[in-house]
Amino acid sequence: MDLLTDIHCHLHEPDFESDLGEVIARAVENGIGRFVCNAGAIADFEQISTIAKQYSGIVPCFGIHPWYCNDLPVGWQGELAYWLVSHRAGVGEIGLDSWKQGIPPLEVQMHVFREQLALARELDRPAMIHCLKAYDVLYQILTDDGTPISGFLLHAYSGPWTMVGPLAALGGRFSFSHPCFAPDRKKAHKTIAVVPSDRLLLESDSPDLVGPEPYRPYSIRRSDGRFRNEPANISAITQVLAAIRGTSQSELMQQIKKNASEFLAPIV
Ligand SMILES: [Zn+2]
Repeated sequence: MDLLTDIHCHLHEPDFESDLGEVIARAVENGIGRFVCNAGAIADFEQISTIAKQYSGIVPCFGIHPWYCNDLPVGWQGELAYWLVSHRAGVGEIGLDSWKQGIPPLEVQMHVFREQLALARELDRPAMIHCLKAYDVLYQILTDDGTPISGFLLHAYSGPWTMVGPLAALGGRFSFSHPCFAPDRKKAHKTIAVVPSDRLLLESDSPDLVGPEPYRPYSIRRSDGRFRNEPANISAITQVLAAIRGTSQSELMQQIKKNASEFLAPIV
């Protein structure tokens, strides 16, 4: 594909209910033509399946986010497997989070994460991982349990730059939230700079994680006053990404397109 891929977003969310067609058209005009749409909970699966059939370029992912892994129905693993087997889909968004308050305990998250990772391995599907302040535990699980052959994405990577190499060696891919590209985020820039070029991807995490000006040219204000992110905003960070990596923008985008196609090969 000659367009970029938004490797991690949530286009099924209510924020896009009234204008998803326009949002996608705007992304395509800006060079982004594939959208890896991640579930947060079982309740999202149907909507994700629907929009993936409705719009070309949407790649579905089914999974349970660590924030929503409490009180899962008996047999949830079978339900998840059903959605995965009946679609060309990745496993996401799954992961571990020791940063956010008021979410299920890490032990519960670890259990649910491992079961989903096992499904990704069994079915050979790429896994889309959320990890906040739990990188040591994540690394241990990935090492002990094993990773899917197709690899895994660390979306909005926020771990130490020193873990990029070891995680890449396990099959890790890396994408970064748009706020990381702001001029004062020097630590993030250092991490962005050390990612192996064949493991770098681009994400928006729409409708969340909107960047500051000038990295949100297509953001509208939501009813809660915050800005809504959308995939077209990726076009506003490609230049700064190339500058941080010290490479030409066109070469880097060719590489990133190749990386996305390789990573998604089992499901697109
Ligand atoms: Zn997300």
